[in-house]
Amino acid sequence: MALLDDDIRFLKGIGEARAKSFEKLGIFTLRDLVCCFPRSYEDRSKTVPIAAAQDGEKVCIRAMVAAEPTLSRIRRGMELVKLRGVDDSGSVDITYFNQTYIRQQLKPGEIYIFYGRLEISGSRRSMANPVFEQCDGPHTVTGRIVPVYRLTAGISNKVMISAVRRGLDECKEPLPDYLPRSVAEDRQLCQSGFAYENIHFPKDMLSLEIARRRMVFEELFVLSCALTRIKKGRASRKGVRLNVPDVNEFYSGLPFSPTNAQRRAVDDALRDMSSGVGMSRLVQGDVGSGKTLVAAACIWCAAKNGLQSAMMAPTEILAFQHFKTLDQLLSPHGIKTVLLAGSMKAAEKRQVCASLQNGEAQLAVGTHALISEDVEYRELSLVITDEQHRFGVNQRAALVSKGLYPHILVMSATPIPRTLALMIYGDLDVSIIDELPPGRQRVDTFAVNESYRDRLNGFIRRLVGEGRQVFIVCPAIEENEENPLGIKTAADHAAALSTQVFPELRVGCIHGRMKSAEKERVMKAVIEGEIDILVSTTVIEVGVDVANAALMVVENAERFGLSQLHQLRGRVGRGSAKSYCILVSDEKYADAWERLKILERENDGFKISEEDLRLRGPGDFFGQRQHGLPEMHIADMGTDVRVLKDAQEAAAHVLEADPELEKPENTALKSRVAQLFSSADATLN
Ligand code: ADP
Ligand code: MG
Repeated sequence: MALLDDDIRFLKGIGEARAKSFEKLGIFTLRDLVCCFPRSYEDRSKTVPIAAAQDGEKVCIRAMVAAEPTLSRIRRGMELVKLRGVDDSGSVDITYFNQTYIRQQLKPGEIYIFYGRLEISGSRRSMANPVFEQCDGPHTVTGRIVPVYRLTAGISNKVMISAVRRGLDECKEPLPDYLPRSVAEDRQLCQSGFAYENIHFPKDMLSLEIARRRMVFEELFVLSCALTRIKKGRASRKGVRLNVPDVNEFYSGLPFSPTNAQRRAVDDALRDMSSGVGMSRLVQGDVGSGKTLVAAACIWCAAKNGLQSAMMAPTEILAFQHFKTLDQLLSPHGIKTVLLAGSMKAAEKRQVCASLQNGEAQLAVGTHALISEDVEYRELSLVITDEQHRFGVNQRAALVSKGLYPHILVMSATPIPRTLALMIYGDLDVSIIDELPPGRQRVDTFAVNESYRDRLNGFIRRLVGEGRQVFIVCPAIEENEENPLGIKTAADHAAALSTQVFPELRVGCIHGRMKSAEKERVMKAVIEGEIDILVSTTVIEVGVDVANAALMVVENAERFGLSQLHQLRGRVGRGSAKSYCILVSDEKYADAWERLKILERENDGFKISEEDLRLRGPGDFFGQRQHGLPEMHIADMGTDVRVLKDAQEAAAHVLEADPELEKPENTALKSRVAQLFSSADATLN
């Protein structure tokens, strides 16, 4: 028996090694475990006759093992167990690779339920590596609705299922319940015990729906309460009151005229900074929409008031690019910009720090180095973070703490549908740059299959011949994922290209397992034109500007989200020359192609993100944690908007009657709200 806050090691069957793997999923306690909701479900509750299953369909079949399974060795290290399953309607060939123990488990003449993808070729039906259970035994993976969890190395879905089952069975206190009774009763929401049981192991679809309705409401309700309280706190957060000079003075020095959207964002920010209340603003704009200019205008305004600003970027390369751009924009106005990066020599760093401390420099651009202990500012009044989803709330807070009530400007290139943004960034005011600078070339985009490989290689060769550069992105393969044939890893693909396909070209590679200094070195070589073709995982997704890049190729494009593909595409077409994006996929299912075709015709990041949300659901969308707020365990921001409204109203109601949440029925809610934003509060108050 265990309590919710007990370590998961207290549960039977979870030893040290497994607990470590669970920790990678953010699961430390029993509470974390039972609150780790399934990502999706597979309805395996119905079985179909073998003859009725369609090609490619995942189904349960109830079949008798016709004869002793056979074992054959196809080649060294590859063993195949084969058997035939039969039912009244027909038969199916079942195979297992490298799982010889299966031979002992499946007995001729006995009936099992098999679940897997059925394939048909000619008159032959087959299934590879199906899971199975005895027909009349207990069912956890067949013959029922099966939860599908987020996994990591060492934690298979099966392990997860049995851990959650045990967790629910052994928990000896009531499951978490943050809803005040009146709120739950008014909406006829189910009890938390029922909800937890059925969210993990739904008895049927209706029970799942009832459980989900409660969980979604509860999650959004708690979030709404927390955000409402933060916003209230923020209204009283002080900020240095700046005098706003005529911003045309800044604009007139630019090599181009700002777009209307840029002007609006600048006006929003300057208004905030002159209000006497601390600014907390998010500037959101598609790749290439010109967010840097908005930052520059704010920095200019702060400097005019004799105050300092700091801009933090997630990588040294990005910091360096910002440094160059901002220095160019601001030095004509007599503003001194310094760069601070971890890899700089100690003496250099000391000099930079001195200039920040004595106020000689008005702007510091850098990486995390900006928040290290020995950096002190004379009068830091504006803190800007770029590409914010790379930073935790705590890092932003650390930078903020270097100043006295500094204003906060956050820049993000992740387009999120507007309704959603207002909710997710509920702790921030939002300016949206929904217009690209004029004359920007459209990146021509094509979704193609393997039959185009030769033409693609020829195209790459031609572009490089013209002196342009090419990016090739491969999906990152997680450790525990077996690599289904055909998924290209960056390292392998780069090796093949440089030795077999383009031996005469300079091929570079960046992938997740490289040290960051190494990545930066390769990236620098790319910027300096010393690499023709860069093969990488999505590390280049964010921000880097290589005007000479003409082509973005994405391998196994079906494995990426649309928004992510759009971001990747934004890495090319940054100069004036024509650029292209080619999405390669050999997916045979039509809906994958439908998705990729959206990118061929659509260029607007916001529209694409809406489509993405619609097609993939927010699990994946938010799975990437592109926001600084607590992870949504269950609520689907795309489709649960109506519930969201209801939850917001309920929250407002509860807080109105009990602003400090001191009534007994709000006790659980109060502690949950405090927990949710324990780190964010530091930033915002
Ligand atoms: P992002 O929003 O992706 O950070 P940047 O700020 O890097 O975009 O701007 C992308 C490019 O567009 C830069 O080269 C910048 O100089 C240019 N740019 C920004 N604003 C304008 C404008 N109003 N007119 C023309 N070019 C602009
Ligand atoms: Mg940028």
